[in-house]
Amino acid sequence: MVRVRFAPSPTGHLHIGGARAALFNWLFARHNKGAFILRIEDTDRTRSTEEYINSIIEGMKWLNLDWDEGPYKQTDRFDIYRSYADKLLKEGKAYYCYCSPEELEQGRKEALAQGKQPKYDGRCRNLKAPVSGVTPAVRFRMPQEGETVVNDLIRGKIVFENAHLDDLIIMRSDGTPTYNFTVVVDDVDMNITHVIRGDDHLNNTPKQIHVYDALGYKVPLFAHLPMILGPDKTRLSKRHGATSVMAYKETGYLPEALVNYLVRLGWSYGDQEVFSRDELIKYFSFENVGKSSAVFNPEKFLWLNSHYIINSPAEKLAELVIPFLLKEKIVNEGQALDKGWLSKAVNTQKERSKTLIELAHSLRYYISEDVEYNEKAKVKFLNEKTLPYLIELKDRLASIPDFSASEIEKVFISIIEKHGIKLGNIAQPVRVAMTGKTESPGIFEVLEIIGKEKTMKRLEKAIKTIIK
Ligand code: GLU
Repeated sequence: MVRVRFAPSPTGHLHIGGARAALFNWLFARHNKGAFILRIEDTDRTRSTEEYINSIIEGMKWLNLDWDEGPYKQTDRFDIYRSYADKLLKEGKAYYCYCSPEELEQGRKEALAQGKQPKYDGRCRNLKAPVSGVTPAVRFRMPQEGETVVNDLIRGKIVFENAHLDDLIIMRSDGTPTYNFTVVVDDVDMNITHVIRGDDHLNNTPKQIHVYDALGYKVPLFAHLPMILGPDKTRLSKRHGATSVMAYKETGYLPEALVNYLVRLGWSYGDQEVFSRDELIKYFSFENVGKSSAVFNPEKFLWLNSHYIINSPAEKLAELVIPFLLKEKIVNEGQALDKGWLSKAVNTQKERSKTLIELAHSLRYYISEDVEYNEKAKVKFLNEKTLPYLIELKDRLASIPDFSASEIEKVFISIIEKHGIKLGNIAQPVRVAMTGKTESPGIFEVLEIIGKEKTMKRLEKAIKTIIK
C-alpha cells in the first residue's frame, strides 16, 4: 500500500512550493488509494513557531488536502529518535564523536584553504575508549567508497560518489536529533513508501539512503519535484509578491483555482488546462511530471480563477463574497443581506469578476444607498436630450406592480417604440443614473436588483442633476 507524507518545517507560512509538494503527495495517495500523512518537522526550535504550524494546517484545509494520519510533530518524538540512534550505536553503524566545535571549525577552514570540500576527517571513527569529561555527539558511519544511485521517478538515475559523503551527525551533544536523521527515522517508523518533495532536497537523498539501509528498511522511492521559478526565471520567492497560500485566499482566489494552477506547475496531461478534482486523481502520475523547472505565471493563475468564479454556483459565491464585502466596507458589520437577493446580484457580476475582491466591488452599486457619477459619463448621458426619457421612465416605472426584469423591459420597449429611438438612447442614461458608470450587466436585471425604491430615488436624483 502506498504511504506518502507531506513534511513541512513550520518556519514560515505554507507557500506555493510547499503547497505543490503537499498536493502531489495527496494526489499520488488518492490515485493509489493509499495513505497521506501530515508530519510537522519542527526540530529547529528557534525558527519553528506554533503560529506557522496553525497557518500551514489552515492552508491545507483551505486547499481541501485532507490527511489520513497526523499531524505528527517531531518534537513529540525525541524518544523514538534516541532509541534508533542507540540501536545504530550498538550495531557499530554509528559512533560517538568527541570533537569540539573549535576542532571541527579548524578542520573546515583547513579544507577550504586547500580548496577542498570540507568534510569530517573521521578522527573519532575508530576510538577505542570514550574521552572523559566530554559529552559526545553521535555520528553515522557513511560508506567512503563506491557510489549511491538514486532512481528518481521524475529525474531518472542520479549517481553520487560516496567519497563526498560526510559522517553525518545524527544526535547533537545536547541530545537533540538532526534533520537528516529525523526524516529517515520517521519515514521508517511511518512505513513511508514514496518520498515526494522539492528538488532542493536532492543532495540529502544519498545520505538518507544509507540511513534507511542501516535501519534495515527498504529504501522508499523518490520523486523530486522541479523547482518553481518566478516570471524573471529566478527561484520563486517573496520578491515575486505573494507566495503564501493564505495571501491568495485573502486577495480573493478560490482554492479550486489554486489547486488547478499548482498541479500544472510541473505536471501536464495532453494540453488540458482545467481539471476537476476527480480527473486529477484519476490522471495523476509521475510519468507526466516534467524534469525542467516550472515558471509561476500570475496571469494564468488569474485566468483560472476567473474560470472557477464563472463556473461556481451563485449561491456559493454569495457566501464566499460576504467577508470581502465587509473587509472592503461595502456592507457594514451587522447590516442584513438577503442571501437569495445576494445570489441574484452575484449571478449578474460573476462573468466580469476575476477575483472575489473584484466581485465584491462590482456589487457596490447594488448595495449602497447612493451612487457617484463618473464625470465623463454624467456629461455625456445626463443632459437635456435624455431628460424627457428619464422623466417618462420614472413615471411609468412608478406604476408597475411587479418590479421584475421582464415587466421593466416592457416599459423600456414601449417608450422606445413610442419615440422611435434605440434602446441605448435610454438604457445608457439610466445605467449612469443607476450605477454611475457606462458599463453594467443587463439594465433590466440591474433595476430589478437595485429594487423599486432605490431606482426611483436614483432616477429622481439624475433628473435633478440635469435640471439644476
Ligand atoms: N521538512 C522539509 C522541508 O520543509 C521536507 C523534508 C522532506 O520532505 O523530506 O523542506
